[in-house]
Amino acid sequence: MHQLTLAEIARGLADKKFSSEELTRALLARINQLDPQINSFISVTEELAISQARAADARRAAGENGALLGAPIGHKDLFCTQGIRTSCGSKMLDNFKAPYDATVVSKLAEAGTVTLGKTNMDEFAMGSANESSYYGAVKNPWNLEHVPGGSSGGSAAAVAARLLPAATATDTGGSIRQPAALTSLTGLKPTYGRVSRWGMIAYASSLDQGGPLARTAEDCALMLQGMAGFDPKDSTSIDEPVPDYSASLNASLQGLRIGLPKEYFGAGLDPRIADLVQASVKELEKLGAVVKEISLPNMQHAIPAYYVIAPAEASSNLSRFDGVRFGYRCENPVDLTDLYKRSRGEGFGAEVQRRIMVGAYALSAGYYDAYYLQAQKIRRLIKNDFMAAFNDVDVILGPTTPNLAWKIGAKNNDPVAEYLEDVYTITANLAGLPGLSMPAGFVDGLPVGVQLLAPYFHEGRLLNVAHRYQQVTDWHTRVPNGF
Ligand code: GLN
Repeated sequence: MHQLTLAEIARGLADKKFSSEELTRALLARINQLDPQINSFISVTEELAISQARAADARRAAGENGALLGAPIGHKDLFCTQGIRTSCGSKMLDNFKAPYDATVVSKLAEAGTVTLGKTNMDEFAMGSANESSYYGAVKNPWNLEHVPGGSSGGSAAAVAARLLPAATATDTGGSIRQPAALTSLTGLKPTYGRVSRWGMIAYASSLDQGGPLARTAEDCALMLQGMAGFDPKDSTSIDEPVPDYSASLNASLQGLRIGLPKEYFGAGLDPRIADLVQASVKELEKLGAVVKEISLPNMQHAIPAYYVIAPAEASSNLSRFDGVRFGYRCENPVDLTDLYKRSRGEGFGAEVQRRIMVGAYALSAGYYDAYYLQAQKIRRLIKNDFMAAFNDVDVILGPTTPNLAWKIGAKNNDPVAEYLEDVYTITANLAGLPGLSMPAGFVDGLPVGVQLLAPYFHEGRLLNVAHRYQQVTDWHTRVPNGF
C-alpha cells in the first residue's frame, strides 16, 4: 500500500479496497521501522492520525468522496499544529506546542487528510541540506551518506522513502524544489500569496511560500487544491479564484513555448545534469513544445541579493524569540539582558545566529542603503527580466540544482558553498513566481531535477507540463533501494 500515490489512494478508498485507518496503520508501522535510517520525522502523531483516519472513514461511509478524504500526509514542522510540538527544527521551540492550526493545516484537515507527523527541517528553514536541524541531519533515501536537500529535507525524504504519499513544505529560496530534485520528487512552490502563510512560522516573510511535495504532478495538483486560496488572516494572501488544478493536467503541449535561459547553462553546472536537462527538453519537444533561447541578464546578482534580504527579514522575524514569550529560556538569568543573550545564544544554532547577525548588520543605519536597499533594487531588476522573458515564452526550463546531492558534512565549513546551490531556485522567490521541480533522471544513482517556472498564478500550466512529461517518462516511479 505504501507505493500508492495520492490519486491511487483516492481511488482505492472510493472503491473500498482499504480503509483510511488500515492505510494509516500500515504507514505508521513503516515509519517506525524505517525512519530511524533517514530521520525524516521530528514528531510522529499516531493518536491524531488514527482518530483523523477513523473520522475520514466515517465521512466516506456517509457518502462524502473528496480526493484527499482519508489521505495520509505529513506537515513540515514549521506549520503550527494545535496542541502538537511545532519546533521549526530548533532547540528554541523544542517545547513549543502551537495554540492553533496554521491555515494550511486546517484547510487540509477539512479536506480530510490524516496527519501522520511533523517532518524534520533545517533550523528555521535556513539551509539547503537539512543538516542544521536541532534534531539531527536527515539522510537521503537514495544514498544514506548524502544530504536530501533542504530546508524541507524531512518532508522530501519521507515521501521519497514511501513513508508518506505527500507532505507540506515551504520554499523561501528553493526549499521545496531543491529537496524535490535531490530525492526524485515533484515539488511545487506556488505564486507568492497563493497559499496562506498564517500559522507558518516566518523565516523571510516576503519570500516564504507553502506548497506540496509529492511523487507526481497529479498528486501536487490534489495537494495544492487543498492548500490554496484567499485567507483574510494573511495580509499578503491574494484574493484570486482557485482553478481546478486536476482539470488542466492533460491539456496538449502543442505549441507550448519553452524558454531556456542561456545564463543557466554556463560554468558551475554539472555537465551530467545539463545533459539530463537537454534530454527532458527533447521529450517535451516530442510532445509538441517549441524551444527558444532567452536571457535573464541579472541572474548573477540573485544570490547576493537574496542573502541580504532573507537574513534581514529573518533578523526581524526572529526577534520575537527572546526567552520571555515563546520557547527556550536559559537557566537562572541574572538580569533581563542576560536572559535575552543566553536564551538566544543557547536556543539558536550556528546558522541561525549567522543569519541574524548578517541581517541586523544589513539593516543597521550606516549600511541600510549600501546593502538592503541595493538588494531590493536588484530584486526589481530580476522581476523585470522575468516579465520580459514571459512576453516570449510560456514556461522557463532549466536545472533545479547545479550539483548532485552532496555528502553529509561536505559543505559544513563553507556556508557560502551551500548558498551557491540555490542559484536556480532563488530568483523565483525574489520575483514571487511559481516554480516546480520534477524528476528527470539519475547520475551515479543520485536523482536530478528539472525546474519549470511560469508567470504569476500559472501553477496549472506547470502541473500540466510536468504531468504530460510524467506520462512519457518513468523517473518519478523509481524507488530507492531498501524502501
Ligand atoms: N537555502 C535557502 C536558505 O537557506 C533557502 C531555504 C528555504 O527556501 N527555506 O535560505
